[in-house]
Amino acid sequence: MSRQKCIALIAHDEKKDDMAAFVAHYEKVLSRARIVATGTTGGRVLEACPGLDVTRLKSGPLGGDQQIGAMIATGEIDLLIFFVDPLTPMPHDVDVKALMRLAIVYDIPMALNRATAEHLLDFAAG
Ligand code: PGA
Repeated sequence: MSRQKCIALIAHDEKKDDMAAFVAHYEKVLSRARIVATGTTGGRVLEACPGLDVTRLKSGPLGGDQQIGAMIATGEIDLLIFFVDPLTPMPHDVDVKALMRLAIVYDIPMALNRATAEHLLDFAAG
């Protein structure tokens, strides 16, 4: 039997509302997976969908992104959904690049915007 899929969720700044709405819309398909999320994002996800299996890591600026990176490196993440806020200045830039790099190295699907995430979950839902 294959293990349960693990989906990592991160939303920056003004994209947190978008992430909450996205998760609520896809609650059914997401309920089949284990979710890990950076701290604040995970809190927003749980507020929207308290029934989901969400593990909250540290907040992004305190290392949560890096925790997700480490989980990618150890093969624990099957899909990364990372809603980057393009209307904020550079502070998150290194975090975005670091996770993009690892997603490429380990060849895992990565959605950087909602349209891509929707395509991936529509596909997963069949
Ligand atoms: P957060 O982290 O979900 O704790 O806000 C994401 C980030 O800002 O990197």
